[in-house]
Amino acid sequence: MHLPPLDMPVFPPGQVWLTGAGPGDPGLLTLHAVNALNQADAVVYDALVSEAILRCARPDASMDYAGKRGGKPSLKQRDISERLVDLARAGKRVLRLKGGDPFVFGRGAEEALSLRDAGIPFRIIPGISAGIGGLAYAGIPLTHRDTNSCVTFLTGHNASGEVPDSVDWAAMVRASPVLVIYMAIKHLDLLVAKLRHAGLDDNRPAALVANATLPDMRVLSSTLGGIVEAAKQAAIEPPALFVIGEVVDLHRAFGASDLQARLTKSCPVSA
Ligand code: SAH
Repeated sequence: MHLPPLDMPVFPPGQVWLTGAGPGDPGLLTLHAVNALNQADAVVYDALVSEAILRCARPDASMDYAGKRGGKPSLKQRDISERLVDLARAGKRVLRLKGGDPFVFGRGAEEALSLRDAGIPFRIIPGISAGIGGLAYAGIPLTHRDTNSCVTFLTGHNASGEVPDSVDWAAMVRASPVLVIYMAIKHLDLLVAKLRHAGLDDNRPAALVANATLPDMRVLSSTLGGIVEAAKQAAIEPPALFVIGEVVDLHRAFGASDLQARLTKSCPVSA
């Protein structure tokens, strides 16, 4: 892939670049990510990195799957970090490609710390997080001056796969009119119960956005009280974002289902 005539960094052998690939649409890769894909000898990628993006790697680059989905054997976090260190010590230019942004619920910090401990030089290349770019594709703005001046991102899973118990749900619900929950599908009913218990009204607009930015993106808008049933009926599967707040209504106001159809139609792009 060609890059505009910018002064982009050279990828030195023996380095690891921890890179965000965005939510899925290759058009949301940053120029730094494309520059890294152009030069990397070894790509270590997660489940949420789309096929279309993997096809942007150099044809002779080695491709290592380090994800935890799709019935493929999963690697432990320690094994992934060791793999990065081994590849770098073997003199490879190692591209660690992660969905969204590496530092947003992406264990990027853990990998960066392991690289630091092993004395491997590394670089962080941010990406568009699904909770930002994915919701924009669904026609859901994170902020709108009429409704909210603050937004909270949280995860529906802690390290052991459970709903985090460190969250003060009542305080969060009081403080933040818009919540964006990553990894929310597995425990959707429990999350909804916690939000209701914390004081959120059943009529609060809520939506699930699955496979955001990809051709099979689905947007399901409902209310906090109706979302669990609606998700069952629609058989919504991960990866999906759960968003709660009045901004969800703007999805309808924008005519966002047409927007979605327009965005996912493919059109030729010249280099
Ligand atoms: N680092 C990533 C998040 C990793 S956690 C980022 O910044 O986006 C994985 C969760 O991200 C998924 O369970 C889902 O909630 C969300 N996610 C990632 N890609 C997504 C997509 N294309 N559509 C919807 N949700 C997505």
